[in-house]
Amino acid sequence: MSAIEIHGLRKSFGDLEVLRGIDLSVEPGEVLCVIGPSGSGKSTLLRCVNLLEQPSAGTIRVSGVEVTDPDCDIDAVRRRIGMVFQQFNLFGHLTVRENLTIAQRRVLRRGRAEADRVAAENLDRVGLADKAGAYPAQLSGGQQQRVAIARSLSMNPELMLFDEPTSALDPELVGEVLAVMRSLVADGMTMLVVTHEMSFAREVASRVVFMDGGVVVESGPPADVLGSPREERTREFLHRVL
Ligand code: ADP
Ligand code: MG
Repeated sequence: MSAIEIHGLRKSFGDLEVLRGIDLSVEPGEVLCVIGPSGSGKSTLLRCVNLLEQPSAGTIRVSGVEVTDPDCDIDAVRRRIGMVFQQFNLFGHLTVRENLTIAQRRVLRRGRAEADRVAAENLDRVGLADKAGAYPAQLSGGQQQRVAIARSLSMNPELMLFDEPTSALDPELVGEVLAVMRSLVADGMTMLVVTHEMSFAREVASRVVFMDGGVVVESGPPADVLGSPREERTREFLHRVL
């Protein structure tokens, strides 16, 4: 069963059709990297997967559960999906540890001791074991994004969605976040990643999808899509960003 299966996905905002018929699947353990120009619909695609945006047409299944079915228990599905955004969205008034435990306690109903243990484990995993008592404002952007990843991992997601997780970072902080993401890949996490980091995509992606104008223009192994693209639009885009 696919981790994500998307058929005929369309999304409009008023008169503007942003997604114009997307078919896409992600298999368990796969890392799918989505690239494409600004405004091509990448974020909207990601947000449709957990219904942060309501699709206008088409079907989306997450581990076989049709999230586009009006009867779907979307909260139950969202619990299995981690999402990391460009902006870290940490709670500024809570410590790092509290940022990692609040959803575990409220949503998963874990007790304090267990939530703290899971938080410690995941802070260690992102190399921030010593920051549990810090507040987000005391951390660098790269550290904050690693906390955001650890927070997602603390919910034991089956699947992680990343929307340009390094785009808001100063260049010298990008590497530490990509290193954490590489370690997730090595652990076999299923990941759907919107990114401008072409070297990351080339190294870790199972497949790369190039989107433009709300459609998938081209997809395939990274060596093909990034190395010898078939479509002129892909070539143009790669010339601009590489
Ligand atoms: P990308 O992530 O590839 O840059 P987005 O999915 O963010 O693209 O946006 C695609 C298009 O949809 C853009 O033209 C954007 O302005 C528009 N859009 C995105 N979200 C909304 C919204 N909530 N309301 C209206 N237009 C939106
Ligand atoms: Mg975007």
